[in-house]
Amino acid sequence: MPTSNRAPIASPAAGRRLLAAFRLRCPECEARGLFTNWLQMRARCPGCALKLDRGTPDHFVGAYLVNLILAELLFAGGFGLWLIAVWPAVPWNRVQVVAVLAMLAAPLLCYPFTRTVWLAADLIFDPVRPTDR
Ligand SMILES: [Zn+2]
Repeated sequence: MPTSNRAPIASPAAGRRLLAAFRLRCPECEARGLFTNWLQMRARCPGCALKLDRGTPDHFVGAYLVNLILAELLFAGGFGLWLIAVWPAVPWNRVQVVAVLAMLAAPLLCYPFTRTVWLAADLIFDPVRPTDR
């Protein structure tokens, strides 16, 4: 059995990975700076050199799904709270305009969070491999 002087690298717990992801930090090392701008993720983590797009063809689809779910939940929650607050005098014309604008804005506002959250979820179920660095 081969021996090594290097201690095994401990993977963060699932909750810690998700918390880091919601703070737009690397789910593996919690480094900042994963994005060059709001919509552009770097190829590798500046802290641990982890490939942020893990190279699987369906990686983007998972982030897209998380974005859709998060945007819809935010919209439904905000819409429901608004209706409860103003019921029964709902300003339906204003609701139509705000709903369209919110549905356009929510996916853009959620985008970086969904990329990091999906990366964290992926790392929880498929931990870092040597080829990921
Ligand atoms: Zn990292």
